[in-house]
Amino acid sequence: MRDRSTTSKLFYEERKATKIFLGLFYIFYISFELIYYYIFPNIYGRGITRPQEGLGIWIYIILFGLFPLAIYFIKQGNPYIVKYLYIYSFIVVDTVHNILIYYGTDKSFASGDIAEVVFILFSPIFINKKYFWTVSAGMVLKYIILGIILLDVQVVVPMVIYIILSAIAFIILIRFDSYIGSLTKVHEELRQNEKLAVIGQMAAAIGHEIRNPLSTLKGFTQLQQERYPNTNDFYPIMIQEIDRINSIVNDLMYLGKPKEVKFVTANIEEIIAYTLSITQQQAERNKVTIETTIAGPLPPIDCDSHQLKQVFINLIKNAIESMPDGGRVMIKVGVLGGNKMEISIRDEGCGIDDGLIPNLGEPFYTTKTEGTGLGLMVSNQIIQDHQGEITFKSIVGNGTMVIVTIPIVQVFGKK
Ligand code: ADP
Ligand code: MG
Repeated sequence: MRDRSTTSKLFYEERKATKIFLGLFYIFYISFELIYYYIFPNIYGRGITRPQEGLGIWIYIILFGLFPLAIYFIKQGNPYIVKYLYIYSFIVVDTVHNILIYYGTDKSFASGDIAEVVFILFSPIFINKKYFWTVSAGMVLKYIILGIILLDVQVVVPMVIYIILSAIAFIILIRFDSYIGSLTKVHEELRQNEKLAVIGQMAAAIGHEIRNPLSTLKGFTQLQQERYPNTNDFYPIMIQEIDRINSIVNDLMYLGKPKEVKFVTANIEEIIAYTLSITQQQAERNKVTIETTIAGPLPPIDCDSHQLKQVFINLIKNAIESMPDGGRVMIKVGVLGGNKMEISIRDEGCGIDDGLIPNLGEPFYTTKTEGTGLGLMVSNQIIQDHQGEITFKSIVGNGTMVIVTIPIVQVFGKK
């Protein structure tokens, strides 16, 4: 839906630009021809007439013959081609024309044409770099070819003028382009935020409704387990699954109202040790071993330790899940540049394709059948709240390294 309307809007813009271009081209061209070859000679009585040599009247026939063709293409829904039709036709016709007139004569080359100025100066209206380069390079190339064939240095004059005009047009084009680029980005961000806000409100509302019955359910399940200790083989699984639902609900609620970060001074080793104790079971089930390297004595950091635990649990779980046949997870913690803590989590799993890395952290982006696609989103948010950064380095089939860096001291965030 959105794509279609965007395409059709772009289509109308292109059609508008093409019509403006056609109007300008013919108005300038006809005015110039009239003034230069008919009005001017009549006033001053001097005989400047349109050269009868070369293509003569055929130039008019060809250039005006393009008009019905242009209308046909616009009606056909292909306005994009019209501008190229004009520039290519013009360059070919004008080159042939000039060669026919000047080749083999010693007549001095009289060059420059209002049509060329229109082509170059108005090329930015299409906001198309390829077209701009076609026009500028085409014009310059035309004069280079003419200069070589006619052995006339006169061609340098229009070339220099057109290069200057091209530079002006280029600046205008680049400004347009960057302006439109920023507008598009702002819109994209707004749309993303809106989407998140709607999803977030919904998620928070549903999450809130689910949490209460869930805790009741868990309470009664635990009660049942105590009451019938000899038939309890399913209860641990039930409780575990309820916890899983609970953690998904928590992630969902994070979407709606990011919790306020409460910075305290905490010990990163303790945070890592806690996350390991939580993920240990899953690692064993998946035949994954986790190795931790702590580089030297580490300073305490300012952080919301509860939230950081959540981040590392998410990242370690992802690492474990990337190795269905088992393997190693290597965690390294160290100080980076004196003021940052770097925690890297490396796995020997499936890896992530380079092209997919921008999707990581998008809400609901997941490649797992049982995934929620919320883990990295929440982790990203938390690390951002800590003024830190998460980066991914990955080789498909080889493994992934997730690097988290956070400042050791929170300058503004400490409360
Ligand atoms: P989930 O784990 O529920 O799928 P996440 O937000 O945690 O959601 O991760 C999103 C996706 O990123 C995963 O589905 C997976 O495709 C990819 N991913 C994350 N971490 C890794 C990793 N260590 N190795 C390979 N792929 C990963
Ligand atoms: Mg995950």
